[in-house]
Amino acid sequence: LAWVCGGGGGGGGAGTQGILTPRTMTSIAPSKGLSNEPGQNSCFLNSALQVLWHLDIFRRSFRQLTTHKCMEDSCIFCALKSIFAQFQYSSDKVLPSDALRSALAKTFQDKQRFQLGIMDDAAECFENILMRIHFHIADETKEDICTARHCIPHQKFAMMLFEQCVCSSCGASSDPLPFIQMVHYISTTSLCNQAVKMLESREKATPGMFGELLRNASMGDLRNCPSQCGQQLRMARVLLNSPEIITIGLVWDSDHSDLAEDVIHTLGTCLRLGDVSRIRHGIKARSEQSEG
Ligand SMILES: [Zn+2]
Ligand SMILES: [Zn+2]
Ligand SMILES: [Zn+2]
Repeated sequence: LAWVCGGGGGGGGAGTQGILTPRTMTSIAPSKGLSNEPGQNSCFLNSALQVLWHLDIFRRSFRQLTTHKCMEDSCIFCALKSIFAQFQYSSDKVLPSDALRSALAKTFQDKQRFQLGIMDDAAECFENILMRIHFHIADETKEDICTARHCIPHQKFAMMLFEQCVCSSCGASSDPLPFIQMVHYISTTSLCNQAVKMLESREKATPGMFGELLRNASMGDLRNCPSQCGQQLRMARVLLNSPEIITIGLVWDSDHSDLAEDVIHTLGTCLRLGDVSRIRHGIKARSEQSEG
């Protein structure tokens, strides 16, 4: 499980502020802070970067990548390689993320996102860095059908899903809507409300609870049956693959939410994919004991 805590304002600060690092690590990754001088507003990038560095699967797979389509001074791939080398070998306790910040700003200049000195969203930054890595190493395949084996973003992070409405009363179903999701966004308000509801109806926490909580918190509105039989239905989500890393983006409803502590209490360290969404038959999956 990767946690990217984004949204709203949030102060500066170096180091791991803004992310929750896994409780257990399967290997030891040197831990360093990232600088964020007044006016830089790089905390969103630093958060995303810390998540990537501390994910064993990402760190190891990324180390093995060598060739890429280089974009010179706006190359996010090169900037990431460089900061990862510093995480590994530098004797400094705090590193500057300026080179990556600048490559990111240049890359997204047209879209006016992630510009220098301007605060932005950590989860969206994380997601965009992953999509840029895809671009640098597997540009020949399209984002939505990328099957390149060396493409870490799609091989390790992408959730392939489809959404469909099936009526239990008349059997009618809507056209399945397939899509790829790199980050599962969830509203912190909805998370807390559902947690209260779930705890009312049971005596103690169960291992499947966090997955169930995620599912309940991301349940959409009721809609009419596709054949208008009068039944009210919810869209069902079916997961088609079993990604090694599931990223959850917490969406805060305001810049100064007072929910932070409650949210932390709702978070589980174990996620069974089958509790979050339906899983296509046959892929029940190794991710059942997803760690960290
Ligand atoms: Zn490059
Ligand atoms: Zn890809
Ligand atoms: Zn119906």
